Amino acid sequence: MPDQDANDGGGNPNAPRLFPPRMTRSQPQLATSYAPGAMFTWEGGKGACLAVPVDAAEIDFNARPTRRDQIIENLEEACQSWLARGMTIQRDAPVYETQLLDDCFHNPMRTGTASVEIATDKFQFMRPDRVGYLPGPLVYRCDICERVREYISPAHQFAEPLPEQCPSGEGRECRWRQLDVVYVHWSGELEGLSPYRYTQGRDGEIRKIPRCQCGAEDFRLIKQGNQFSLWRFRCTGCGAEREVYQTDPFSLYALKRHMDNGIPHQWSEINMVPISYRASPVFYVQSARFIVYDHDPEVVALMQPARQADLIAKIASLHGYGGSDPSDESIRAQLEAKGRGALWAGYAAMRAQEQIARAAGQTSQANAFAEAARITREGWYASGDVVIEPVATPELQAQVRNRHQLGYARRFDPMRSTVEHDALRRRKVDVASEAGNLRLAHAELCAEYGVRELEQAYQRRVGQDLTRAGIQDAYLVRNLDMVEFSFGFTRVSATPITVQKDRPMPVRLKGFPRLQNDRRPIFVIEQQNEAIYMRLDPGAVTAWLAANGVLPAPPAAPRTLGSVLIEDYADFGPFLQGFTVRDPASRVRTRDVPSLIYLLLHTMAHHVMHGISRFSGLDLGSMSEAVFPADLAFLVHRRGMTEDLGNISSMWRDHNGAFLDYLVARRELRCGSGTLCDHRGGACPACIMVPETSCIAGNQLLSRAALVGGRAPLWDNDQRHIRGYLEVIRDLRNAAAAGGRNT
Ligand SMILES: [Zn+2]
Ligand SMILES: [Zn+2]
Ligand SMILES: [Zn+2]
Ligand SMILES: [Zn+2]
Repeated sequence: MPDQDANDGGGNPNAPRLFPPRMTRSQPQLATSYAPGAMFTWEGGKGACLAVPVDAAEIDFNARPTRRDQIIENLEEACQSWLARGMTIQRDAPVYETQLLDDCFHNPMRTGTASVEIATDKFQFMRPDRVGYLPGPLVYRCDICERVREYISPAHQFAEPLPEQCPSGEGRECRWRQLDVVYVHWSGELEGLSPYRYTQGRDGEIRKIPRCQCGAEDFRLIKQGNQFSLWRFRCTGCGAEREVYQTDPFSLYALKRHMDNGIPHQWSEINMVPISYRASPVFYVQSARFIVYDHDPEVVALMQPARQADLIAKIASLHGYGGSDPSDESIRAQLEAKGRGALWAGYAAMRAQEQIARAAGQTSQANAFAEAARITREGWYASGDVVIEPVATPELQAQVRNRHQLGYARRFDPMRSTVEHDALRRRKVDVASEAGNLRLAHAELCAEYGVRELEQAYQRRVGQDLTRAGIQDAYLVRNLDMVEFSFGFTRVSATPITVQKDRPMPVRLKGFPRLQNDRRPIFVIEQQNEAIYMRLDPGAVTAWLAANGVLPAPPAAPRTLGSVLIEDYADFGPFLQGFTVRDPASRVRTRDVPSLIYLLLHTMAHHVMHGISRFSGLDLGSMSEAVFPADLAFLVHRRGMTEDLGNISSMWRDHNGAFLDYLVARRELRCGSGTLCDHRGGACPACIMVPETSCIAGNQLLSRAALVGGRAPLWDNDQRHIRGYLEVIRDLRNAAAAGGRNT
């Protein structure tokens, strides 16, 4: 609740003003609780206000266009996912896409995913520095005479102030109070508790009729108890009573004509519901966040349909697809591009000699020239002057086509994430100034730093513990660049479906109200946070996959496990539909390399989050994760919008031993709910789950069994037990020890 002294003029709701007064709050608050459309009350109950946008400078993304592109992409994904979830509503009457998405997110000329269209010129990127507010809704009731008065604006109220005397003739003074009950609708509308109803005229227009049928304009609000269903508006003219409800103008316009044509929509879909804004939230801000890849525009660019060939080449080079020699033209171009064009002439001469010899039938001489050219090329490959052109398999080529044609869900697309992972490694993880390798002793990450024997002991111990946990790489990333942005809001429900009167209803995702220039604000907070990056041991993962019956033979080197994952990947869907199955009859998935690797990495990421939370004091809600399945890697990061105080690095420095013990301790992976949890898929809020806002996968594809063994996931057609990753590692170590004794 805001305090009064931040109120620069809003204390007097009678004052007309051209511009709304503004208030200053922290950026995170303005981007969330006080974002435009929010309703809040001043401390001391002095009345309610609605937050409205105020014009402010646009963020200049010209120097960082990738950041802007990433916002648009993430916004698009959020809207597509919202739409897809809302359209799953099953009921007798249809759901229309416009009931789920505001115009600024939606093109009504198309349907489905393609209908999501973010017109960038309709939005303005801003920092949440200021927001305005207006008193409202302006509906008052006199405690004495029970009359209700409604104003359409503060200026209206100024022109016609509230009467001072009750009309009863007793000479009593009115005691006016702003009504703390409002009408809301899942379409995003919010209205004061007006006695006047919206109706649709014969011309189709929606109007509010500001009087009773008898012609009188004044109503009293009779409250019988606290139940709205018992409240009545009573006309002061004819005494006729009205129930406390209002029609939602948006839904009335959208649905009434269909009802008139016999489509079984119900009035419960159109009517707003009264709600006390002191008792329940009437505003849910919608936001998204992502890791920034500013320095690598290719991370976004390679995802475009026109760049498929380049994406294939990139994945092939990242995942050990063997290469072929580039053509001579390509070699020449590559050398020139690297400023080594002078090397070309000698090589070209060798190739020319080879051709002459071959034309003359001098095979052995031709082969000698060919061999000399080959040795030259190998030298260039080794020096990096020339790069081998990787050869993609037909399976990889098909997958890159599929991700466009079948519209793979962005969030789980392993091809996208492997390109992002490559950028993350190059820009953050593998750069000494950006990240600390936790296997080595660093001044700020190792309490033993400075004493050689102690440093060695640290490195030995941490190395052994990480190996025991099946973790090959562990880094502390100091400043992970992140963007968190809020782009709109909903009412009644924070999710796309709400149930009202036993009927599922679509919740409309609304853009923020327009600025003076008619654009919608998007509030952007840029931040840097600490993160822990971990990459599992490919050998251990290979053994684990084999133990669970999904990898008959490991890929031949240099091909990576990731190449198998990418080739075998079948779209997970935007909200993991196939993995939310709870009964055998509806199973559509069978464990495979992509699903098991995701299950393992995701579970491990949550386990690490719980560990950080235990030893650092950061709560689970202030962390989040990123999973890079094809690279067997994940990232757990802080996600607070306030300054990072280094909780994760001090956790590591002070408690790395306890933290690493925690990671491999079986007892830490038991659940208090016992077998009940095991039977329900090995994940529940009492164990490995994290708050919804911290999980990138809605707490799906998650099971303690992935680490310690247990029942197969409920979605899995293959119901054999899962061998735990930590069990498989222990077996490997025991086997190695036994082998060591035997030789
Ligand atoms: Zn009165
Ligand atoms: Zn009347
Ligand atoms: Zn549990
Ligand atoms: Zn998660």
